[in-house]
Amino acid sequence: MAILVTGGAGYIGSATVLLLRQAGEQVVVLDNLSKGHRAAVSASVPFYEGDVGDTTLVTRICREHGIEACIHFAAFTDVGESVEKPHEYYSNNVAHSFTLLAALQAAAVRHVVFSSTCATYGEPLHLPIDETHPQSPCNPYGWSKLMLERVLTDYDRAFGLRFVALRYFNAAGALPECGEDHRPETHLIPIVLQTALGQRPQVTVFGNDYDTPDGTPVRDYIHIADLGQAHLKALQYLRTGGGSEMINLGNGNGYSVLEVIETARRVSRREIPAVIAARRAGDAVRLIADAGKAAALLGWQPQFPELQTIIETAWAWHSARPDGYKK
Ligand code: UDP
Repeated sequence: MAILVTGGAGYIGSATVLLLRQAGEQVVVLDNLSKGHRAAVSASVPFYEGDVGDTTLVTRICREHGIEACIHFAAFTDVGESVEKPHEYYSNNVAHSFTLLAALQAAAVRHVVFSSTCATYGEPLHLPIDETHPQSPCNPYGWSKLMLERVLTDYDRAFGLRFVALRYFNAAGALPECGEDHRPETHLIPIVLQTALGQRPQVTVFGNDYDTPDGTPVRDYIHIADLGQAHLKALQYLRTGGGSEMINLGNGNGYSVLEVIETARRVSRREIPAVIAARRAGDAVRLIADAGKAAALLGWQPQFPELQTIIETAWAWHSARPDGYKK
């Protein structure tokens, strides 16, 4: 029996694959490498370069590897890009996932851990955000993930599919083997660290006129090792008969864009110039998690909750691999 990890060559997927293997799990990766990196996955892991919407391929993988559960990461994840290219987000994140779920169902795979997001909540009505908070996304990315949550809920009712949708807050940090390398990069922490390395002249801060203490948006940054561990726990929860759930993953601490830049300056001991620009479309003002349910239901506790530690691990990875996964 094995676990199918879609998007296992991506940032969070590759870290989770590593942790699954360390825990003794059999893992098979399916990734079309449109965003992920082959080098992010050990050569000893069975790897299929292909699409989650390829029914023939998914069916063959399930049969040949005796797939027992699927951790479904494969998706586009940029808030700003999703506003510009909604069709690509709905097509990739929603339509292809439908096809995947149908193939999994046909192969009698009953357990799915799904990468969802705090972007499904939209602008918060109260903080911290718990799982009962109303969901009204501010961008197509958030909508695409919310749609899948809905589909999974209905498949549970109709077909007995059991799932855990993990609503990540802002994934950050690195393991020595896995770090953040999006092309083009749009996420704050890698952009700040690339600026520290001299690869960019400056960081552009998207708006400082928000209703926050320093005027820049606030996020709850969560280490990818902690995210990865939560997937192992979610899998275990499903294997031991747990019912379908939506679960937040965050630290419960909010940091502004300027606080991230300041922390990175301290960690890297580099200057990191920053300029203020207009707001980015689709950005929420503040996103901070109440992750009490993850602790209560999964027994999950973050091991790296401090922003400083998160940025230290990211800085170690970026300094060691200034060109990322580039061959
Ligand atoms: N951000 C920024 N400059 C950048 C990239 C991001 O000011 O070059 C801001 C962005 O507007 C948001 C925060 O940093 O308020 C986190 O953005 P990121 O893209 O890392 O994650 P998101 O919260 O969009 O998933």
